[in-house]
Amino acid sequence: MSYVFQPPAPVSAPVVGRAERFPVHRIYCVGRNYEEHAKEMGYTGREPPFFFLKPADALVVVDAGSTASIPYPTLTSNFHHEIELVVAIGTGGRNIKAADAQRHIYGYAVGLDMTRRDLQGEMKKQGRPWCIGKAFDQSAPMGPITPAEQAGDIVNAAIWLQVNGSDRQRSTISKLIWNIGETIEHLSAAWELQPGDLIFTGTPEGVAAVQPGDTLAGHVEGLTPISVKVQAA
Ligand code: MN
Repeated sequence: MSYVFQPPAPVSAPVVGRAERFPVHRIYCVGRNYEEHAKEMGYTGREPPFFFLKPADALVVVDAGSTASIPYPTLTSNFHHEIELVVAIGTGGRNIKAADAQRHIYGYAVGLDMTRRDLQGEMKKQGRPWCIGKAFDQSAPMGPITPAEQAGDIVNAAIWLQVNGSDRQRSTISKLIWNIGETIEHLSAAWELQPGDLIFTGTPEGVAAVQPGDTLAGHVEGLTPISVKVQAA
């Protein structure tokens, strides 16, 4: 095969305890999937889950024990953190039932759905797509993937984010409005899931702005934590 220019290397993430990497296909994200976060964004009640995507190459791999750098992005003055549990799909499928979802899951990771909140808000107001607020370059830092069988009791795990050592977000995965199986059921009704798909499952309350120089430490109990530093633009 020859190309008119060199194709980019595949996007991939490290796997805990393995030399082989996890090749990334798509990045799906769930909106407003914790009640207290939905409230802080001005919404109430249980609504059907909704989804948006980030390009696979928006992923920033954060290796265990290291701090990754991300730039403060252009066009925003309200750059928000959203700590999220990421589900990594190992076996694809469509119309997957929640009860069958577990066998499609390869593993789990800690991720950040970084958001240009001001641009997202402006797009919402105008009824336009969220892409500029959500799907920008380097908007998806993520740590190593822990295989599901090594991840412990993930559905009851604590999830938290500290900025410069202070708590900003703290909740548990059990507070997901649409749990992991239900999320996969809804998502796979709309798209055929493929091996390599990542699902950012939504963020709990406490989202807020970060500034250049801030260091974010993201945790989900049982998974490899991530550390990310925001650089000046
Ligand atoms: Mn999010």
